[in-house]
Amino acid sequence: MKEMYCSLGISEKVYEYGEEVLSTLKGRFQEIDEGAEYHQLKVIDAMRKEHVGEACLYGTTGYGYDDIGRDTLEKVYAELFGGEEALVRPQITCGTHAIALALFSNLRPGDELLSIAGKPYDTLDKVIGLRDEKGSLKEYGISYAETGLTSSGDFDFEAIKKKLNERTRIVWIQRSRGYAVRPTLSAKAVGRAADLIHSLRPDVAVMVDNCYCEFVERAEPLSLGADLIAGSLIKNPGGGLAPIGGYLVGKRVLVENAANRLTAPGLGKEVGASLEVLRSLYQGLFFAPTVTASALKGAIFASKLYEGLKVEAFPLADEPRYDIIQSLVFRKSEALIAFCRGIQAASPVDSFVRPEPSPMPGYEHEVIMAAGAFISGSSIELSADGPLREPYSAYFQGGLTFPHAKLGILNSLEYLYREGLVVL
Ligand SMILES: *Cc1c(COP(=O)(O)O)cnc(C)c1O
Repeated sequence: MKEMYCSLGISEKVYEYGEEVLSTLKGRFQEIDEGAEYHQLKVIDAMRKEHVGEACLYGTTGYGYDDIGRDTLEKVYAELFGGEEALVRPQITCGTHAIALALFSNLRPGDELLSIAGKPYDTLDKVIGLRDEKGSLKEYGISYAETGLTSSGDFDFEAIKKKLNERTRIVWIQRSRGYAVRPTLSAKAVGRAADLIHSLRPDVAVMVDNCYCEFVERAEPLSLGADLIAGSLIKNPGGGLAPIGGYLVGKRVLVENAANRLTAPGLGKEVGASLEVLRSLYQGLFFAPTVTASALKGAIFASKLYEGLKVEAFPLADEPRYDIIQSLVFRKSEALIAFCRGIQAASPVDSFVRPEPSPMPGYEHEVIMAAGAFISGSSIELSADGPLREPYSAYFQGGLTFPHAKLGILNSLEYLYREGLVVL
């Protein structure tokens, strides 16, 4: 094995340090494998219950009336995530679109959206109208309020009570932290918040940005009290095979509102041809538990490997995980750049591409990105990025298989090692 890694450019020292780190992670990896097993059984159970048949794998064209594959897939998602109804569509273009759909369809002029885990993901600024944009919620007369987490990373229930008012219609909870510095929220924490909010205001819907959290924990937010979850199919639930799509699952009325907004009032879920993607959406969902487990193992391996080299890791290798994101604080731009280049060079696609920091729309600083993915922009595949600013943190995620994640992480360290940015 060592020879194999060496022939791929990993030096003996890096390989041996990696093996030493891995030997300490056996117990943790076993837990993750058990989680994958649990979710694999759940996925198969849902597919059996909903009678997924061969006919479901073929798509429709045109209006997409009576698309049995699309309708059955939505039943599978509803069953799996514990909701009454689901909307799982290639016409939902990405995670931001799924979230925007949930919000626009369930808020009316005069309503207020209350985010209780601080400022949502950057791409939602213009959806909400925090930065001016045509067609934002703000333009429709929908206001926005926010409470942050406490210093211990919990919801600030006192502040939430104060901010809830007669106009509040949706309480929004983003679980994964995006580029913010805060812990990811567990399904249990979301459930506790939902219970409190419902006890104060039964008419308020608790909606959850579930991006990167699917299949990480055994519990999912809907079974603990949330009303709607939303996410992207080119993250965890697409299993790396879904080429496009987003999902919403939750209370019937909330999902029906979203369907009427995605298509048109009166058409709702009845239209929307699935074209050629259904087989990938089903097969991707089938693979999603083990793919998510591979990504989790990669994240834990990376944190342990770099922790040992005095790079700050969030979360730490031994901490509980509620999403697949790992951040590593390099403190030096050269180290962040070398890390991303090492990840890129270990990719199955575009391994020969050398990432360079460059300006990005919506970002103040240059950003460097590593992504050698089969599906463009897919972040369930091994990928990393980071803004070129203090403290030079890399955000790292994905890995369809653990051997690929392992190679990518070892190669990132190889690049740092060769440039003298770490000492082994
Ligand atoms: C990825 C992500 C989004 C947005 O999804 P896109 O598919 O990139 O539009 C929203 N929220 C969180 C927490 C995310 O991780």
